[in-house]
Amino acid sequence: MTVVVTGAAGFIGRALVRALVEAGRHVVGIDRRPQPDEAGLTAVTADLAGGDERVPEALGSADAVFHLAGCPGVRDCAPDVEQRRQWDNPRAAAAVLGAVSARTPVVVTSSSSVYGGAANGRPCVETDGLQPRGGYARSKVLVERLCHQRLHSGGFVAIARPFTVAGEGQRPDMALARWLAAARHGKPLQILGSPERSRDVTDVRDVARGLIALADAEACGIVNIGTGVTHTLAAMIDVVAAVLDTEVVTSVRPASGAEPPVTAADTTRLRRLTGITPVTDLHDVVARQAAAGDPGVQEPA
Ligand code: NAD
Repeated sequence: MTVVVTGAAGFIGRALVRALVEAGRHVVGIDRRPQPDEAGLTAVTADLAGGDERVPEALGSADAVFHLAGCPGVRDCAPDVEQRRQWDNPRAAAAVLGAVSARTPVVVTSSSSVYGGAANGRPCVETDGLQPRGGYARSKVLVERLCHQRLHSGGFVAIARPFTVAGEGQRPDMALARWLAAARHGKPLQILGSPERSRDVTDVRDVARGLIALADAEACGIVNIGTGVTHTLAAMIDVVAAVLDTEVVTSVRPASGAEPPVTAADTTRLRRLTGITPVTDLHDVVARQAAAGDPGVQEPA
């Protein structure tokens, strides 16, 4: 059985490739960044929307496809960000969905950001209305629309909405990665908004497990991948300090409007479809992330 993982060089992509290879699947990883040499992995270095013929070839002959490639990050505000979001999110998704036969299971990673935050603290249910707060979330809504078109024409596609993913190799722009790097260098840990804001933090290993289970179940439609449990930013920082066994100082900066105060997943549908309810042991996840090293974190000035 050969499966394709797009975004295989990325944070979640690497964890997913590892889990698939461990489960005995042969993986074709597609990413425009180089991928590590790994038994069981055939790496294709290409842009999904760049016209490279190896991309539709691999996608067209796969037994299942995990589409993780994308331009992530709600906070990205570089001048070319909207262009990158359009290319890497809806445009790349259109290229992928157009190349995979209708009966092949596809799992596409959207994002919990399409909800715009938990409604009055209540966990988000897949049937909730969408309230994208910024350009990233809006680009994921466009990706979801393409998935719905595939569903309406009889194709298989599961639209996964992961909630704040953490663990080894976390992207350097994400909060835990920045805090670990700052604490190691004796710098203040920057909190955006307020220490009382909270996040549903999901272990990257559970995300990989959930994505695989969705493909195996040939699941269709939207599925949250989260825990239903929230952690305040203050509590997350306490864990960083405990894991590194160091004192930390914090500074609070205003958060952009793209950042909701609370995120939380209703996990009923994931459990019903796959039997999985992710549970995050925050200390363990942060300890693994810290042990894996600092993936080139750049603290904002
Ligand atoms: P990441 O940036 O680490 O990985 C994304 C990978 O996709 C990168 O290696 C990048 O090179 C590749 N890529 C992007 N556009 C491409 C293109 N056009 N052609 C080829 N390769 C391309 O991001 P991540 O954190 O691993 O996130 C993976 C997916 O999950 C993204 O779609 C992201 O939006 C989504 N997501 C992530 C989180 C999270 O907490 N990390 C939460 C919700 C959703």
